[in-house]
Amino acid sequence: MKLSPPSILSGLLGILAPLPCVVCGQPCGSDDSLPQLCGACAAAIRPLPEPRCERCGRPLVSEAGACLRCRSKSPDWDEAYPLFDWRGPAGVALAAYKLGGRPGLARFFADALEPVIRARWPDSVLVPVPPRAERLRKQGWDHVELIARVLERRGFEVARVLQRGSSLEQKKLGLDARRENALRAYHVMEGRAVPRRALVLDDVYTSGATAGACSMALKGAGSEKVAFVAIAAD
Ligand SMILES: [Zn+2]
Ligand SMILES: [Zn+2]
Repeated sequence: MKLSPPSILSGLLGILAPLPCVVCGQPCGSDDSLPQLCGACAAAIRPLPEPRCERCGRPLVSEAGACLRCRSKSPDWDEAYPLFDWRGPAGVALAAYKLGGRPGLARFFADALEPVIRARWPDSVLVPVPPRAERLRKQGWDHVELIARVLERRGFEVARVLQRGSSLEQKKLGLDARRENALRAYHVMEGRAVPRRALVLDDVYTSGATAGACSMALKGAGSEKVAFVAIAAD
């Protein structure tokens, strides 16, 4: 296997001084496939339980097909599917990845996404949700794009066609305001052709406002089907 310089470096660092697992804090061992997430914690990150709502992908309680929320108001996208529950080790690992400067975890999330995407959307083209400009400036790298690049190297087609407009920070807003705000937040770049079947990729799925806004932007530009996949739902 050909190792890229960062993985050689992190491998060497792991041998010299084992890195603590981002979830449990214990030093990672040589058996752990990732230098910063121990095998036990990686195994504890499990998908959200089935059955799920066929529209928003959240676990169903007593309903069948679609959840009550999606039945009362049909979402703007065709299908959404978050992989993990944010409340738990997945959320801790994801926060460490995006906020704690652990880009090496991109491979772990790409590993989790890959079989799901191949099984559910074999013909769709990945469309990464673009980052906020301030976040990119502060952090220096884009955590969604990094996962998209890993998947691209594994043969997935990626179309970087979305762009952010000016909008307020979502988490400070209520549900209706989030939707309004998100509608202004994304558009398709001038002159770019959108995929017929798009699979929007994001890290966290919260209110569905981002999924809805990206879906409307893509459908407005010609996409026929828009699905949304996220690593975790909160
Ligand atoms: Zn651990
Ligand atoms: Zn639903």
